[in-house]
Amino acid sequence: MTTPAVPTLADVVRALEGLYPPVTAQAWDRVGLVSGDPGQPVRRVHFAVDPTLAVIDEAREQGADLLVTHHPLLLRGIHSVATTTAKGASVTALVVHDIALYVAHTNADVASPGVNDALAAACGLTASEPLAVLEGQGIGRVGDLAEPVALAEFARRLCAELPAAAGGLRVAGPPDSLVRRVAVMGGAGDDLFDEVRASGADVYVTADLRHHPVLEAREEARGATPYLVDAGHWATESLWLSGAAERLTDSLAASGFASSRVETHISTLRTDPWEFVIGAEPPAGPAGIGGTS
Ligand SMILES: [Zn+2]
Repeated sequence: MTTPAVPTLADVVRALEGLYPPVTAQAWDRVGLVSGDPGQPVRRVHFAVDPTLAVIDEAREQGADLLVTHHPLLLRGIHSVATTTAKGASVTALVVHDIALYVAHTNADVASPGVNDALAAACGLTASEPLAVLEGQGIGRVGDLAEPVALAEFARRLCAELPAAAGGLRVAGPPDSLVRRVAVMGGAGDDLFDEVRASGADVYVTADLRHHPVLEAREEARGATPYLVDAGHWATESLWLSGAAERLTDSLAASGFASSRVETHISTLRTDPWEFVIGAEPPAGPAGIGGTS
């Protein structure tokens, strides 16, 4: 009996590209293999949203040969990888510790199943369709809940599905209004408000929402739908990690690399940069503090 083979980085990259084809990434994005030798063996793969220095340290402590992240480390040009900058220190740490880095970003957003399917499921949607088409790819998701639910209760249920983050969820809309049709876009989604309105969504779950776009959208809606939920950039995207790890294991197994030969880990670090909140107000009214749910 022969020992099952260990995949090389090239084998793992091939599997990842099958799950998240690079051609489906947006034109401005930078996805794919960032560091590493395609010939090196990969026994441990570490998954995280962000390739921060702490995450790279965590990957090293786990003995990872490959770090797979959602966000690119090098989106814009740099001219030095000296450790005098955080980006340089990150690249140096990856190279010194022999950890390959692979990025699946907007190609993981549009993949099915991908980042937005994971967020749609966390919202309670069992079926959804793309919210919009951009560069030929279906982005975001929209679908209907099985039953209408009060906005505050919807947000509370979503909060329970998301990893804990200091900021929690911010909601623009009356807590007691019923919502059923839900649009989602993991990460920054304030450029899709027109598509959200066109979709007939009662509520839009995304992140990185700013004062003016939100206020203007609420003014346009005259207090009615679509309501808005800012569920946090890191939280909405971290939902994808465990499914991605499972699908990579399955894909490698289908190529003859036994799951016993490749371990996957999910980062336990919260890379949401916000660390605490002071003075947040709970929702008012029956769906708020002291409500029925
Ligand atoms: Zn993101």
